[in-house]
Amino acid sequence: MPKDTLEKALHEDNFKKPLKYQPDHIDVDIRIHDTDNVDVTCVYHYKDKFPTEDKPSIIELDFEDLKLTPDERKNGASPKSLLSLEIDGVKLVEGQDYIYLGEKHKIQLNVPKDKNNFTLTAKTNVDPLHNTTGVGLYMSDGNIFFKGETMNFRKISPVQDRTDVLSTFNVTLSQNTNAQNTQNYNQLLTNGDLVDFGMDAQGYRFVRYEDKVQKPCYLMGVQAGEFATEEYSHTFTNGHTVKIFTHAPLKDKNKDKYVVEGIIRGMEYMDKEFGLIYDKPQYHITSLTTFNAGATETKSMPMFSAGYFTTDKDFVPSSDLLATMAVVIHEYIHEFIGNGFYINNWLELGTKEGQTVFLEQLATAAMLADPDVVRMTDMNDMVNRQFPKEDDQNLPPIPNALNSERDHYTATTYSKGAECFRMIHTLIGHDKYTKLIKEYVDSHHYQNASIDDLLELAEQYHSYDFTGKFARWFKQAGRATVTCHGHYKGDSQEYVISLEQRFKDPHNKPLPIPLGIALCIDGQMSHEQVYLFDQENDAIVFKNVAKEPEAYSINRSFTAPVEIRDDQDITQAIKLLAAESDGVTQLQIIQSLHSKEILKRYDALKAGQPIPAISNSFADALKTLVTRKDIAPDVLANLLTPAPLGSLRTQIPEVTPMHLFNARDSYMNDICAALYSEMDQLYTDLRNDLSGPYKEDKASTQKRTLAGCLLKITARAKTDKERQKIIELYDNANNGEDRITAGNLLEKLRDDEPQHYQRIIDDLLQYMSVDTNGKLAALDIMAAHTSATPRAHLNAVITDPKYGFDWAIPHHGKHVGPRFAGNYRNFHAANGEGYEAIADMAIEAGRINPEVAGAIGNILASLNNFDADTAAKMYKALERIDNTSGMPQQLRGTVKDAMKAYEEKNSGQNCSKTKPGCNP
Ligand SMILES: [Zn+2]
Repeated sequence: MPKDTLEKALHEDNFKKPLKYQPDHIDVDIRIHDTDNVDVTCVYHYKDKFPTEDKPSIIELDFEDLKLTPDERKNGASPKSLLSLEIDGVKLVEGQDYIYLGEKHKIQLNVPKDKNNFTLTAKTNVDPLHNTTGVGLYMSDGNIFFKGETMNFRKISPVQDRTDVLSTFNVTLSQNTNAQNTQNYNQLLTNGDLVDFGMDAQGYRFVRYEDKVQKPCYLMGVQAGEFATEEYSHTFTNGHTVKIFTHAPLKDKNKDKYVVEGIIRGMEYMDKEFGLIYDKPQYHITSLTTFNAGATETKSMPMFSAGYFTTDKDFVPSSDLLATMAVVIHEYIHEFIGNGFYINNWLELGTKEGQTVFLEQLATAAMLADPDVVRMTDMNDMVNRQFPKEDDQNLPPIPNALNSERDHYTATTYSKGAECFRMIHTLIGHDKYTKLIKEYVDSHHYQNASIDDLLELAEQYHSYDFTGKFARWFKQAGRATVTCHGHYKGDSQEYVISLEQRFKDPHNKPLPIPLGIALCIDGQMSHEQVYLFDQENDAIVFKNVAKEPEAYSINRSFTAPVEIRDDQDITQAIKLLAAESDGVTQLQIIQSLHSKEILKRYDALKAGQPIPAISNSFADALKTLVTRKDIAPDVLANLLTPAPLGSLRTQIPEVTPMHLFNARDSYMNDICAALYSEMDQLYTDLRNDLSGPYKEDKASTQKRTLAGCLLKITARAKTDKERQKIIELYDNANNGEDRITAGNLLEKLRDDEPQHYQRIIDDLLQYMSVDTNGKLAALDIMAAHTSATPRAHLNAVITDPKYGFDWAIPHHGKHVGPRFAGNYRNFHAANGEGYEAIADMAIEAGRINPEVAGAIGNILASLNNFDADTAAKMYKALERIDNTSGMPQQLRGTVKDAMKAYEEKNSGQNCSKTKPGCNP
């Protein structure tokens, strides 16, 4: 979407004033003649909301004509999809009554004279079959879909596509039962209540729905097709029973087990914890293979990417089973948060998404899994994904302005947004928090609401300055680094921890940071509390500390999404590790130790010095962990896994990627050598426990996760024994987790067991090809395979039919690009061909699906984090994308922003005429 359109759509100023003319009711008629021929007629019942105010000269409608090429839009072509516009039955003339600004996706309509209220009728014709973008009306599995979020209604009809334009809807869907492609359609569904159905005069099957509750058009959903439908039900504590329907394409029949479990758990949790009950008679959950996102909360009929629906234990890792339930719970929570009230404008996305993610985390931890592991995942997500993103992007969860939609659906809006709500929860307590949310939802029912409304309400529950100081968490960009020093005062028996919070941007104001803290004395944690640190500098004074503590623990359980820099050494960290019993805190301590060790190696490699060895005391501490019986197996798996390269790189300015790869790789090799016998023994014990038929209970799932983690480390020994373990794991696998673990280790067989290597690859590709998510998992494995010729390798994965890659499935592109790039040996190949491979892929995606293209282009946008030589090669690949004509804005915007940042960074240095934008 072009920037100038988004500037209008996304900048706050445009939302301060409600529109004078807006429709309070919309009649929508969607008539499916065939999959490539759908007529959409919308009748907008316009009202003058402010009759005493002056008339504007025009009404601006949003309209993105998907039938026009970028060049046609640029050259001012008339819209192709728009058949007619009428006001009160009188046809409007283009150029006289309205103009179309194709590049801006706008129609400017003259305001009719002498009319306060009028109807605008817009007729369009759209072609779902040839629409490969995954937005507007499009096809998946032979079925036709429409989802409103974000700005998609404008792709089927000219509309004021804003979150504060609220209308009731009557929707008629009809389908030609004689067209070959649609004759077997057994379902037509949209939001609201079914009020009529049957055959119409032209022999079309039709349904009519009424949604009498006003809603913004982005909450609308439509599906028409042939589905395998299952029916379930749930009764709430107030006696209300809801019918739950799952709809999947025929090929994915009977794969809704985890979806159903998730929805029932979600309904129970929101009912019992928050008193929030879904009050409508039906709830529909649908699976789509072609879907740009993970899922979307189209009102009462959420749609899910098959990745979060058809999860079959034979084809996916166990974590996906849990993730499916979590996403189903997430979309259900939106029935209250986002569908029960509406955000004021798109900048407020974090108000609904952050809250929903946080409630999803609470529900998942309480009902489905080990709470420690859920929180570890949240924390890893923050540290490994959001920290780098926020560093690069410098936007808060609720920004003042945005350049583009692609800047908004990120870990900052979702995960950091969730952390902001979690901190409110920490400050006011669980009971008050549940009451606060219930009151917020109830008091804004079916109206617009903002984060400020919630913060105002929070002040009634707790005396803190939520609307002032706490609001900074939502609105101020940049994460805080907290530096702390501890010292003991024997005379007064006090222990003092001095604190300082700093930001990259010195203009930032201090944040209120709730810090879980405690002292470690005689191997036990004591003086535990949550301290609210909201000044630039502060000191926590512990009284009655009879002897000097061995260490202190800070930001325990990750109470705040900040980076901690403390003054404690490895010996103190190891003592804390032994004394802390909560897995999340243990993970924080050990992650910091892992990272320090890896960064030490990076520095040595960079300086051309020998790599330092792991200290004996640290190796002993790790051995103790591996043999401790009180740590849950999946917690241990987390503890044994250092941060990924993408996260480590944020700790090094202008990183040399292969030094970092070698630093982490050598560290893992040394861990393998130091702990081999303990890990090997534990692996054998776990595999013995897991032998026999597949078991899905929590204990077995945890053991399988840990076994996989151990094998990943011990396989580094490169012995025949380790290779046999991989072969056995694959050949005996009775579930996706084991199969995928073995698949990811296949490279270890390449040189010494070439026959097994090839046999397993062939078998894996064939076995996985029958399942939507299995195919994706196999693609992930193959894309990450190390190759001496990365560009040819990536090209083969995309084009060779044996891999099953399909551009029509957006997640294929969204997985394969990042998976390839995650293997530094491919992506950062010295000759730069890894970058060129990603550029090839982005350009190809640019001709098919703009969103996928943007996601792939984004991989190269990280160039400014790397050393000059690496960045220059990445810049060259970006330049090639930039010079390719016909690329969509989602890709061009990403590429141009990254190039501009590179040019600004390098201006004045190494300037030459060949470097565009260079200002010596
Ligand atoms: Zn959401």
